Amino acid sequence: MQLQFFCSALALGLFLSPAAAQQPSPDVVRQATQASFREYIDLLSLPNDAANPADIVKNVEWLEGAFRKRGFTTQQLPNNGKPLMYGEYPRKVAGAKTVLFYMHFDGQPVTPENWAQKNPWTPVLKQRNAQGAWEATDMAQLFGATVNPDWRVFARSASDDKGPIMMFLAAFDAMKAAGIEPAINVKVILDSEEEKGSINIGNVATAHRELLRADAILIHDGPRHASEKPTLVFGNRGNTTARLTVYGPRSELHSGHYGNYAPNPAQRLAALLASMKDDNGRVTIPGYYDRVKLTDSERRILAEVGDDEAVIRKRLGIAKAETVGATLQEAIQYPSLNIRGMAASGVGERASNVVPSQALAEFDLRTTPEAPPEYLFGLIEQHVRSKGYFLTKGAPTEAERAAHDRIASLTLGRGSKAARTPMESPLGQWVDGVLRKTFSVNGADAATVRIRMMGGSVPTDKLVEALDTPFVIVPLVNGDNNQHSHDENLRLGHYFDGVRALIGLIRTAY
Ligand SMILES: [Zn+2]
Repeated sequence: MQLQFFCSALALGLFLSPAAAQQPSPDVVRQATQASFREYIDLLSLPNDAANPADIVKNVEWLEGAFRKRGFTTQQLPNNGKPLMYGEYPRKVAGAKTVLFYMHFDGQPVTPENWAQKNPWTPVLKQRNAQGAWEATDMAQLFGATVNPDWRVFARSASDDKGPIMMFLAAFDAMKAAGIEPAINVKVILDSEEEKGSINIGNVATAHRELLRADAILIHDGPRHASEKPTLVFGNRGNTTARLTVYGPRSELHSGHYGNYAPNPAQRLAALLASMKDDNGRVTIPGYYDRVKLTDSERRILAEVGDDEAVIRKRLGIAKAETVGATLQEAIQYPSLNIRGMAASGVGERASNVVPSQALAEFDLRTTPEAPPEYLFGLIEQHVRSKGYFLTKGAPTEAERAAHDRIASLTLGRGSKAARTPMESPLGQWVDGVLRKTFSVNGADAATVRIRMMGGSVPTDKLVEALDTPFVIVPLVNGDNNQHSHDENLRLGHYFDGVRALIGLIRTAY
């Protein structure tokens, strides 16, 4: 619709705005997209578990060929036998911004017997039957004149994340067919071990900082929001672990002989933990949330996300949410103090009637850019001390045991950093504007979902951190794609939409 709107506007000689750059016609986009399906199937046929470097090399060689065919210069970035691919579109636009597009071509390991097809690396085209179940249909239809947007291709990495790579290539095919060039300078990095946590991408990026230099990074990975509206994600929380151990008697004691006499560390740990939060789940440690300031405009954008929280609570099996934020989206803008596990002596078959000698709780702290791990850890430490605890480094000495009633140790683990690009930044406005225009209906801008910061952490952190460049995640695939599991799939309607979104981005200056 948007494209037709532009075409008629251009035919009338109207020039709308810089954002309304000339785009390929809907027909050209559709044809280029359909023509890319053969390569998509080829790419999905290459096994891509990063546990097998030889497979990664085959993928990267295939990808270099595909990018070169579109005029890109490419090179492999060495990474312990599992190279990443770098590509650059050679035609430069004077004065335009440079955008580095990130996608990954490795996939999760597969368990073929769980898949409802012969092999996860032999793609199958499926449609829903009258009973709503997926059934295989003739793959040749994929290359016919009309393609049903509700058909899906089932294969490992169909969505995560080879689909977006092929959408990107198809976007260039459509532009070429229309005789138009990018309005931005385009660089591409294709990751080879995202599913293994991109453990080395920070080092690779640091070693090639000049090559990868860009004004912005766009990350195309993960599914759209459940509403299936065009989605932008501006950041992610970090994650750091911490361990709190409360010490009791030197060794486990007979609870008949010493219960009511020797203080129980499990009881004390429970009291200490209880002192950290109120009944609504809000951390009561002074200052824990203080550094997070949401503006009215950010709160409004968060409210616009429009999660159906009744459905979410039902899915989670909880009657009531905690009140850290007014909504789920607001809640995950704050740092968390989550008990990820607790232990003291044994339970069930391993239980014995003892006063335990120690009790421990492990936390994961979800951090934000303004509330980093050291800051939160310092507050927790202060709080534990304020409850009368003497803090040791590891097990207490005899002298410490003799001198202090309450003894604990607190250690901070390692983790990933939080990162966030302001939603109202020029980058945020550019991406949001492009998506609104690209998917507009009858000239009215489409609604987008803007996620200020997702709750979890992503491996791309290390890339963003190494390059110190603002980023936005623009997921393109369907939410019900089964990524990471068996029967991973991509809905073809999302493939078409992804190509349109990418053309919009590449053809619009910012
Ligand atoms: Zn992914």
